[in-house]
Amino acid sequence: MLEPKYGSPGSIPKTCPNCSLDIVTEEMVCPQCRHPLQKVSTLRVLGVVQVILGIFLMSVMAVLSFLIFNIVRNADDPSATTRFTGSDKDLLFIIGIFGVVFLVGVTSFAGGAWQIIFGKRNKYITRAILVFGALFMLIGLVVSFLT
Ligand SMILES: [Zn+2]
Repeated sequence: MLEPKYGSPGSIPKTCPNCSLDIVTEEMVCPQCRHPLQKVSTLRVLGVVQVILGIFLMSVMAVLSFLIFNIVRNADDPSATTRFTGSDKDLLFIIGIFGVVFLVGVTSFAGGAWQIIFGKRNKYITRAILVFGALFMLIGLVVSFLT
């Protein structure tokens, strides 16, 4: 049977975010590359925060999409109180931004759930969140230049 080198037996190994070393240790620094390690409990708390944030983003986007859909559908109805007066291009941007924010919500939820279950980050999900975040800012920049 394999005995962990450090820490109490059966404790969850920490994963170095820098060199991906899996190690059971009470140290807060990676023994291989000296990169700071995070406590498994800290990662789990952050995971819960990410899951809540993910659910929040997804539900806000779902509600907003529903509202926008209704407003757009009323576009040709002169008696409607709220009507969409933008062009198809504006609408496309709105849908694009909503889609990206929704994806950020999904990945945040998935990443948080992963952290709660496994006690460590999933680097692919973390990267996906960064990519979607960058995409969101890019769309925001394009919109602010065009409007
Ligand atoms: Zn390391």
